[in-house]
Amino acid sequence: MTRLVMKFGGTSVATLDRIKRVAKRVGREVANGHEVIVIVSAMSGKTNELVGWVNETSPFYDAREYDAVVSSGENVTAGLMALTLQEMDIPARSWQGWQVPVLTDGAHGAARILDIPTANLDAKFAEGMKVAVIAGFQGISPEGRIATLGRGGSDTTAVAFAAAHKAVRCDIYTDVDGVYTTDPRISSKARKLERIAFEEMLELASLGAKVLQTRSVELAMRFKVKLRVLSSFDEYDETAGTLVCDEEEIMESKAVAGVAYSRDEAKVTLISVADKPGIAAAIFGPLADAGVNVDMIVQNISEEGRTDMTFSCPVDQVSRADRAMSDAKAAGKIDYTELLADKEVAKVSVVGIGMRSHAGVAARMFQSLRDENINIKVITTSEIKISVLIERKYMELAVQALHDCFELEKA
Ligand code: ADP
Ligand code: ASP
Ligand code: MG
Repeated sequence: MTRLVMKFGGTSVATLDRIKRVAKRVGREVANGHEVIVIVSAMSGKTNELVGWVNETSPFYDAREYDAVVSSGENVTAGLMALTLQEMDIPARSWQGWQVPVLTDGAHGAARILDIPTANLDAKFAEGMKVAVIAGFQGISPEGRIATLGRGGSDTTAVAFAAAHKAVRCDIYTDVDGVYTTDPRISSKARKLERIAFEEMLELASLGAKVLQTRSVELAMRFKVKLRVLSSFDEYDETAGTLVCDEEEIMESKAVAGVAYSRDEAKVTLISVADKPGIAAAIFGPLADAGVNVDMIVQNISEEGRTDMTFSCPVDQVSRADRAMSDAKAAGKIDYTELLADKEVAKVSVVGIGMRSHAGVAARMFQSLRDENINIKVITTSEIKISVLIERKYMELAVQALHDCFELEKA
């Protein structure tokens, strides 16, 4: 018997009818002779609602209780999926993360999976169970508390199970029929890719393309999981969707493979900090301790021993950042006159392994934004990506302009 992992995202399990629909697809794979591990997300919108309740109750919440609340959405769909399969006479049962167990570290809200022992599922499969339905997005920390894997984390649950169980494939069923050159909801010219390299997918995901969680791509790359993204709404065929694979398995060699965006960014500037050794550590240490995910960093030119330090972070972490900085200031660890937060910015990035060998990508990108009169606030680059921070109201326009500029609609 071979094992197959099938993951269904929020929209694919949004109603009882949709659960029935995807359960039929699972049934087909059982009929094909697979032992199936199904990973489910919460019904669409549910996790957002739960996160909202937590924030309303406690703005600087205890992350362990956040996890207790937001993990619950997946428990509901796991049970409903198992019941639906049982109604179809398919031997199935549900498992919450702690029951498997999915062992994680203690980084609540963004926990990493450390190990997934297979013995419990193996024993049930040996007894004739055909489908194990797993609540995605959750595990159990070393202290025995429920831990969640960060937003979009069910993708990572899926890949981690595929690796642990040496599954023949990990199919991620979602509401689009594959990975596109950019979010098809932003650009009607977005083109579906047959294949995408792990490294490009990794960058796109970490720069905001939420079709796969970053960590899931990392794990797939490391454990050589055959990872496919496909639609749960279309009729199924063997070649559907996008295969995420090694660079060598791809013929296309464009400079840019895709455009990603991250809408809800903020730009924070500390005015007039002392320009001396250790200042960056004194600022970013407390920010890290407060759980602020700092992304881009710019240190402005120094005048008379003082400088401005700018960084970007998710917009919903600005108050956390503000508190961490004012606490550090009160404790005499840093000194600044003012903290300015621009909450109306977004990040747009171009990604491609072809950038290693094609020159001039940055120049083309900046020219294209200039042609649209879009001002760039911060720039960062790496070997295979260039990101800019711009005013949020121009985000869609920038994505479309860059998609056109690099002719991504053409294969
Ligand atoms: P699920 O609930 O199934 O996990 P997500 O909403 O997390 O689905 O991810 C799918 C969404 O990702 C799509 O609806 C699409 O809007 C968005 N997306 C962003 N960038 C891309 C891209 N490059 N290709 C495909 N989808 C993308
Ligand atoms: N339900 C979680 C979220 O919305 C996990 C997931 O769907 O992957 O982030
Ligand atoms: Mg998702």
